[in-house]
Amino acid sequence: TDPSLIRNFCIIAHIDHGKSTLADRMLQLTGVVQPREMKDQYLDRMDIERERGITIKSQAVRMPWEFEGESFAFHMIDTPGHVDFSYEVSRSLDACEGAVLLVDAAQGIEAQTLANLYLAMEHDLVIIPVLNKIDLPAAEPDKYAEEIAHLIGGDPDDVLRVSGKTGAGVEELLDRLVVEVPAPTGDADAPARAMIFDSVYDTYRGVVTFVRVVDGHLSRREQIRMMSTDATHSLLEIGVSQPEPQATEGLGVGEVGYLITGVKDVRQSKVGDTVTARDRPAAERIGGYQEPRPMVFSGLFPIDGSEFPVLREALEKLQLNDAALSFEPETSAALGFGFRVGFLGLLHLEITRQRLEAEYDLDLISTAPNVIYHVTTEDGELHEVTNPSEFPDGKPTEIREPIVDATVIVPAEYVGPVMELCQSRRGTMQGMDYLSEERVELRYTLPLAEIVFDFFDQLKSRTKGYASLNWQGTGDQAADLVKVDILLQGDKVDAFSAITHRDHAYSYGVKMAKRLKDLIPRQQFEVPVQAAVGSRIIARETIRAIRKDVLSKCYGGDISRKRKLLEKQKEGKKRMKTVGTVDVPQEAFIAALSSD
Ligand code: GDP
Ligand code: MG
Repeated sequence: TDPSLIRNFCIIAHIDHGKSTLADRMLQLTGVVQPREMKDQYLDRMDIERERGITIKSQAVRMPWEFEGESFAFHMIDTPGHVDFSYEVSRSLDACEGAVLLVDAAQGIEAQTLANLYLAMEHDLVIIPVLNKIDLPAAEPDKYAEEIAHLIGGDPDDVLRVSGKTGAGVEELLDRLVVEVPAPTGDADAPARAMIFDSVYDTYRGVVTFVRVVDGHLSRREQIRMMSTDATHSLLEIGVSQPEPQATEGLGVGEVGYLITGVKDVRQSKVGDTVTARDRPAAERIGGYQEPRPMVFSGLFPIDGSEFPVLREALEKLQLNDAALSFEPETSAALGFGFRVGFLGLLHLEITRQRLEAEYDLDLISTAPNVIYHVTTEDGELHEVTNPSEFPDGKPTEIREPIVDATVIVPAEYVGPVMELCQSRRGTMQGMDYLSEERVELRYTLPLAEIVFDFFDQLKSRTKGYASLNWQGTGDQAADLVKVDILLQGDKVDAFSAITHRDHAYSYGVKMAKRLKDLIPRQQFEVPVQAAVGSRIIARETIRAIRKDVLSKCYGGDISRKRKLLEKQKEGKKRMKTVGTVDVPQEAFIAALSSD
């Protein structure tokens, strides 16, 4: 296809603002999906099917469009919506020249809209502002058109008004994409260069790689080379998604499509890498390739120790489709054999854990997530700490922790509570802007460690659910951090050690000591539960020595509760862990790690 007839764009939107529904209307209007095949959230459904291994993900859909007598080709490129995947987002944006900024006409701009908008602007994309859901009675298009115009400049009248539900305004949007989004440019005669913006594992076809051709041409059956590793593969299939995969003879300048090479592991076909031709290779990669870098680490342990091999196999399988997942074996006195797993962020952790539990039928316990600290010791050595157990003994000369730039959007009446929360999490305010009279954008720098745990939940509960949050890693800062150990009868319980700010060490110590005291059954002897920073004890509780009858604890309580307690005790006996001289049912550790 002649590059002057190609338009590459993405849709950026906050969750639920109607991206999938608008995509449905576009598929229908351009005729690539027949009315009788149309189902709501068509592309989302394809993703679900892909997970079952039936078809391949439609990361980039090609759609024809007639405009003023000429036949254009759109490539609509999907972008992951969450900050955990910001590197993938930035690669997807690189594959586009334009972005539809889609905003719910009853909600206005939200944090995710804003974060993606800023990214799109950094990538020099032409922004087409669109208000969606104008069919809703609660829609206030005039008000939010003002808000958008205020944000990106321009006239409120230039903000297009559409309904993904009824289809109103969608044809006009497609016409505007042709007129306003620039055609891709590249050197058709140069050696081939294509940028990988997504790579997915398919049960039947192996790895399917999505690329945007920048220069030259990739042809069917050619030998290709991955420029980051110099590995060569033969191109078994090349094509475009319409949205079903459609094999073609090749892809030229500006075209977006997929490659299949028969590799079985997405790490051989990395997002951000450049594909070239083996026989006439390009001299230089397309800029900006980064290895995926985990930000958050957590220990994952099977509750049933015999499932350790199943967990290993499951993690290896997930890694085929997730280049950002890293893991290594870890042993814990309290939790047994498991893995230290690196994630891009908390959502990535949750998704992974859910998939392990749902798809591999594993029951897992995870330790508190840990960010990466850089600790310099007195001998001048620099330690990278992803696990409290790696925290060096002795007094460090410097500890650095990762920080993020966070954006919160809230109705004006909640500004106070949000500022309080950010301050209590060691945040530094960077700025505050009114998007309109009622809505405020707050910008903070915060330590990553302070937002990966329950920050978003706290934010939601303090703002009755109205706040939206987005954040992005920006570097690191020196911080006064300490390692808090929890000791049972003088022995460290490894799974409970934590790295915290010095000011929070005491409250963490008190909380964990109390929790363990309540969860660990009495022993034949008195057991002290202590929290310590180095050799200094900062909190102490005591589990008193056993009395004859465990049921005395629920004196006067009802009988079913007593029975439950007895059953629990029986179960607990089955899986006791010994820490030093203390017998602890594994359930106690699990409960202590999961409650908050
Ligand atoms: P996404 O998360 O941005 O992909 O949003 P979806 O396309 O899944 O839409 C979220 C919800 O909004 C769904 O319940 C849709 O049916 C609804 N929705 C999307 N577009 C419109 C619209 O134009 N009008 C109305 N009334 N509802 C819409
Ligand atoms: Mg969607």
